[in-house]
Amino acid sequence: MSGDTTIVHERIDELLATHDPDTCEPRAFWGAQFDLGLAWVHFPVFHGGLGLHPTMNEVVAERLETAGAPKNDLFNFVGLGTAGPTIVAFGTEDHKRRFLRPMFTCEDVWCQLFSEPGAGSDLANVSTMAVRDGDEWVVNGHKVWTTLAHAARYGILVARTHPELAKHRGLTFFLVDMRSPGVVVRPLRQISGEAEFNEVFLTDVRVPDGMRVGEPGEGWRITIGALMSERSHNGDLAKRPRGMGPVAHAVREWQRVGRDDAVRRDQLMRIWIEAEMIRLTSIRAEQSRKGGTPGPEGSTGKLATGILPQRVFDFCMGLIGAEGMLISDYLMGQPDRMFAGNMGDGTEDLEIAKAFLNARAATIGGGTTEIQKNTIAERVLGLPAEPRTDRDVPWRPAPERGT
Ligand SMILES: Cc1cc2nc3c(=O)[nH]c(=O)nc-3n(C[C@H](O)[C@H](O)[C@H](O)COP(=O)(O)OP(=O)(O)OC[C@H]3O[C@@H](n4cnc5c(N)ncnc54)[C@H](O)[C@@H]3O)c2cc1C
Repeated sequence: MSGDTTIVHERIDELLATHDPDTCEPRAFWGAQFDLGLAWVHFPVFHGGLGLHPTMNEVVAERLETAGAPKNDLFNFVGLGTAGPTIVAFGTEDHKRRFLRPMFTCEDVWCQLFSEPGAGSDLANVSTMAVRDGDEWVVNGHKVWTTLAHAARYGILVARTHPELAKHRGLTFFLVDMRSPGVVVRPLRQISGEAEFNEVFLTDVRVPDGMRVGEPGEGWRITIGALMSERSHNGDLAKRPRGMGPVAHAVREWQRVGRDDAVRRDQLMRIWIEAEMIRLTSIRAEQSRKGGTPGPEGSTGKLATGILPQRVFDFCMGLIGAEGMLISDYLMGQPDRMFAGNMGDGTEDLEIAKAFLNARAATIGGGTTEIQKNTIAERVLGLPAEPRTDRDVPWRPAPERGT
């Protein structure tokens, strides 16, 4: 066992000896996990980590899973997967000290204020404005599809500060207190009835300059860093043990109602093989990244992990037949965690009809299937790029924006 592995195992032993996962209150458990450097082991010491290689996180995850430790992922997906790594990579010491621990314990849930009605796939087109006023920035704009904004204490925000520059160059990255005056969160009701995401209206919201991340105008570089963290966090989910994740729901439903049907068994096998290919490909992708030669697997992974839950829940709906037309309720709840059909490990208690409806979003969120295909065409296959006419022109005078 290497020295690093020994340290990690010793810390886990200490955590489990002092905080029994069966009886400990989840927030107290996560707090102790953070203080022992087991939140993100590759983060710096005193900021939830031990400064070790990121692969050591798997050791922690496996042992805590076996011990039945509480999981915080779905309660604070944006915080743990995107905001935390972004703060460590680009934030100040004050940001790290102030935000990381309550983020890990889920006392502070985080949301991502990126997409707008006119800026989704073309994210660099954001029109939310931030204008400097002394030690503060005054922010005005309209964000949309903001997952868990109704539960969030803080948001990561990309806003335009230099409209006279080309669109990618005029952006700045901020951390926003969602309780600030001028922040209004309105639910967006989804096809399944619930509202997991929201629109967020920002009207004369005052953001202290101390909540800026990076330099003014550097926002695109930081946004790309944040999106890469999000992508890698999602990629980690695809490395679940064999048979876990969305495919587990297909197997469970088949065992419940489909066993005698040879055609359904054939369909299940195809889905199983697809899930296994995704899992093995994501493991191979990680190995090539570690070896210093990242391959195309990262780009194809997002494409495949978006489509899989749709296949799984289509299959489940076929299995359950008329039962799939019944939905337990159509009340507009605002869940306190993310929909788990494509994010969870497959052990969660799901209503198949709602999971089927929610799975449509899996090929949109985090970058649509079409955009992934563009990326593969251009960066992996080397096909000619789409024409980009607005790349080097100032953002403000573009006539189609009516300014
Ligand atoms: C479940 C879920 C959670 C989300 N959570 C958040 C969040 O927390 N915070 C946040 O900021 N955003 C969030 N989003 C928003 C998400 O990032 C956007 O929906 C996504 O980037 C697509 O943008 P859009 O919806 O504006 O679609 P558009 O960009 O308007 O695209 C519309 C259609 O046109 C296609 N299209 C667009 N451009 C091209 C092109 N160049 N070539 C080919 N086809 C193209 C798209 O593929 C799509 O089919 C979430 C979305 C979902 C589904």
